[in-house]
Amino acid sequence: MQSPQISIVVPVYNEEAVLETFYQRLMPIMDALKRTYEVILVNDGSKDKTAQILNAFFERSPEHIRVIHFVANYGQHLAIMAGLENVRGEIIVTMDADLQNPPENIPALIDKLEEGHDVVSGYRQHRQDSLWRKKISALHNYFRAKMVPNIVMKDEGCMLRAYRRSIVDLMIASQETNTFVNALALTYAHNPTE
Ligand code: UDP
Ligand code: MG
Repeated sequence: MQSPQISIVVPVYNEEAVLETFYQRLMPIMDALKRTYEVILVNDGSKDKTAQILNAFFERSPEHIRVIHFVANYGQHLAIMAGLENVRGEIIVTMDADLQNPPENIPALIDKLEEGHDVVSGYRQHRQDSLWRKKISALHNYFRAKMVPNIVMKDEGCMLRAYRRSIVDLMIASQETNTFVNALALTYAHNPTE
């Protein structure tokens, strides 16, 4: 089987409420791109009906959907890394399942990557999270900057990102588990700016 051109990687933990909408918004966008693609959904040990829903997506579209099930909840970072380890595309897009990253933005992200960038990051224009969640983000950003200096990110927590395969291969080879994926990617990109 030929490798698809684009791989979408989505970590999924207890998202039964949004998955159907996610699927119905994502798939037409991907079909409209007129490229070959795969969507790798990593079920991070969900306790709700996520596993069954993801398996049903595979039944609905076996040529596009691939599902990885974790036996327990290992966290978003490891779920994304497991997806990245299994990508076959030359362009890789990561995104959340909860629709905080609009699938409608994927084409623009890919266009930007094809202008010759290694990594393209989205950012949340009107971030709708609690003050508490934003405070946690600020703390995360502080420690990330200490661990991986010289990298400036507009929205570190935004998971809507596109990568060239060469960058993903380096991220996997690094076996890094302490640096969150977003910062890890930029340590390998040329001229990391956002
Ligand atoms: N997620 C995951 N494992 C977890 C927690 C979250 O795979 O233990 C997934 C979740 O389903 C979503 C993405 O990671 O697709 C981001 O999670 P969340 O929305 O909770 O994070 P936030 O929006 O606060 O960054
Ligand atoms: Mg979220």
